Amino acid sequence: MANKKIINSNSIKFLQKYLNNASPTGYEWEGQKIWMEYLKPYVDTFITDTYGTAVGVINPEAEYKVVIEGHSDEISWYVNYITDNGLIYVIRNGGSDHQIAPSKVVNIHTKNGIVKGVFGWPAIHTRDNKDENSPKLDNIFIDIGAKDKEEVEKMGVHVGCVITYPDEFFILNEDKFVCRAIDNRAGGFMIAEVARLLHENKQKLPFGLYITNSVQEEIGLRGAEMITQTIKPNVAIVTDVCHDTTTPMIEKKKQGHTEIGKGPVISYAPAVQNKLRELIIETAEEKNIPFQRMAASRFTGTDTDAFAYSNGGVASALISLPLRYMHTTVETVHRDDVENVIKLIYESLLKIKPNETFSYFD
Ligand SMILES: [Zn+2]
Repeated sequence: MANKKIINSNSIKFLQKYLNNASPTGYEWEGQKIWMEYLKPYVDTFITDTYGTAVGVINPEAEYKVVIEGHSDEISWYVNYITDNGLIYVIRNGGSDHQIAPSKVVNIHTKNGIVKGVFGWPAIHTRDNKDENSPKLDNIFIDIGAKDKEEVEKMGVHVGCVITYPDEFFILNEDKFVCRAIDNRAGGFMIAEVARLLHENKQKLPFGLYITNSVQEEIGLRGAEMITQTIKPNVAIVTDVCHDTTTPMIEKKKQGHTEIGKGPVISYAPAVQNKLRELIIETAEEKNIPFQRMAASRFTGTDTDAFAYSNGGVASALISLPLRYMHTTVETVHRDDVENVIKLIYESLLKIKPNETFSYFD
């Protein structure tokens, strides 16, 4: 598979459908169904859990278990308070960005389907230009065109409804994928593509492979915390997104230097098992897969932490996809990086030996 392109038109079709479907934290199951439907021909069986995490399993009877993982949820808002004149104040469900809210169109999810709304904002003419308000959680509000609270309720909108952005997938200048929720629908996409490649290349793995799409990452790695207890894996290779730090107003001395188009980003962090990470780096070097490095003090802030610190310690590593404008509606990644993360996970899996302990003391 040296220089053959991995992502084909059918993969793109799946990615588009998977991205365009809303999958807010706590409400991931429709997205999980789309993902499982795509994955089905490439796995032996599925595990799902009470909160909606889905796992495609290859060789379910094998004792040694390897997880490849992404998370299925996307950031959203909750309806928190409805004013007497029918405007809606919100709280976050994940790290939703107050700065990008004004003038965005929103979808409010109700029992009877989507209710449209808009984040309003005072006109430039009416603002004090010496002392302008910037958008904050306590001053952004949604207008659904209702005259009062009663009408809001009649439209099916109540406290606790979740709110997502409708922005859909498109390709920018041929090789950039743009959408909301590429964090981390791209992860689910890439691990599914790994399963497809294993199947198409007739690779028989000498261990059980658990292709895991965890829920509730955005509010604190909760889905991964649950499913790692169920699977009890020996190894976990997690994939998530990280920042492209080359766009304006990002301090490289603080955030490091990683950018789109330069390859997968391999993490150094206490939760990352060094021998597993070296296996991944050796794989990249052998297979001429470009990669970048990133360091995290204390936590990676990804599901890597949840897997690593579970079950008495699980050898874990993190391969990230560099992304611009995280948690906005125009998250942007480079197609080549998506390809190379898939390749790097695939080739690393082929190097893992069953019963490998990754012990520092052998
Ligand atoms: Zn995120």
